[in-house]
Amino acid sequence: MKVLVVNTGSSSIKYQVFDMKDETVLAKGLLDRVGIAGTVLVHEPQGKEKVTIKHDLSDHTSGMQLVLDVLAHPEYGCVSSLEEISAVGHRVVHGGEHFSASVIIDEAVKQVVKDCFDIAPLHNPPNLMGIEACQLLMPNVIHVGVFDTAFHQTMTPENYIYALPYDVYEHYKIRRYGFHGTSHEYVAYRAAEMLGKPYEDCKIITIHLGNGSSMAAIADGRVVDTSMGFTPLEGLVMGTRCGDLDPAIVYYLMDKLALDSRQINDYLNKKSGMLGISGVSSDLRDIIAAAAEGNGKAQLALKIFCNRVKAYIGNYLAKLNGCDCLVFTAGIGENGYDIRESICENMDWLGIKMDVEKNRVRGEEVDFSAPDSRVRLLVIPTNEELMIARDTLRLASAGQR
Ligand code: ADP
Repeated sequence: MKVLVVNTGSSSIKYQVFDMKDETVLAKGLLDRVGIAGTVLVHEPQGKEKVTIKHDLSDHTSGMQLVLDVLAHPEYGCVSSLEEISAVGHRVVHGGEHFSASVIIDEAVKQVVKDCFDIAPLHNPPNLMGIEACQLLMPNVIHVGVFDTAFHQTMTPENYIYALPYDVYEHYKIRRYGFHGTSHEYVAYRAAEMLGKPYEDCKIITIHLGNGSSMAAIADGRVVDTSMGFTPLEGLVMGTRCGDLDPAIVYYLMDKLALDSRQINDYLNKKSGMLGISGVSSDLRDIIAAAAEGNGKAQLALKIFCNRVKAYIGNYLAKLNGCDCLVFTAGIGENGYDIRESICENMDWLGIKMDVEKNRVRGEEVDFSAPDSRVRLLVIPTNEELMIARDTLRLASAGQR
């Protein structure tokens, strides 16, 4: 069975086609600047030359049509006809409290995605546009929704209720949701395989460090806690997001800088974090390079970044009463061995001891624990698209609605 995985943003469509017989990627690509002048599609078919197509497109439906044309193109396509694609898996950021697993998309599911527009205004509207464009162009296949929030729905109230009057939860559904669920789930299952233990018997701390970063504490096959909250702004320090903050700073800054609610949202989401502290860049490679050249703010930003991850490791070790392993993943977690080293140093009292030499790898699966480390230290490259494709295959094969 061939499965198309689609991730639609406000002006982009990312896609991958999998042959689920052996989970190989037949093609992948990115259509960028949809609805903005200069639309460009970069398509990478397996075993063939990469193709770049420039073609201004006004909306997601025409964007999706171009992607489908390219997938079945006689020269650089990856299927001889679109009939070969049996199901489409859609990444959806927010499913509120409604979904604790992936689902086949019907009208009721789309209504929930719409109901969550309010709490995910940047993500859910384009996600729905992508679903509707695909359904229009591929009406006869099963479409599956895979939600970033679903994996974290096993949290219990003491971990998801904020210390606000309880009725804001009841009326506005203000609570911790958590994000990056597909990534945390993928690496947690793989970690259990590496540990050689049933997943349900493992205590795992997953550390997803990318442009957006989050952590999760997992025990007995359930997420106990996660660092992102009502929105992806809470928790770790990120490329441009501040993470945890004294909430009083928000209204103080609104006053001092004369910012309205939209502007303060922008300030905390796009101008803060590593970019804000360092003044250099949101990209960790740039910050590491600046720090190496002696830039004091870049050095400080790196210390704050690692310090926050350490603090969450402590938090989660206490909540889980110890753990089997820490798992590092995503762009920084997989590649930034110096960052992993800074995070894991001086934690031997907690049973965390690394092998510095084994840690010196980028983008590879590795166990870099020292032989006497009580906690195994793993790097596992994430693969959210494969996780979406697997869920899509499972639901499409069962054909359940
Ligand atoms: P996204 O959240 O957009 O999916 P990624 O998971 O691709 O992000 O991670 C992007 C981050 O990974 C960037 O900050 C980038 O600097 C960082 N990164 C990539 N390679 C390295 C490296 N070799 N060392 C440190 N950081 C890296």
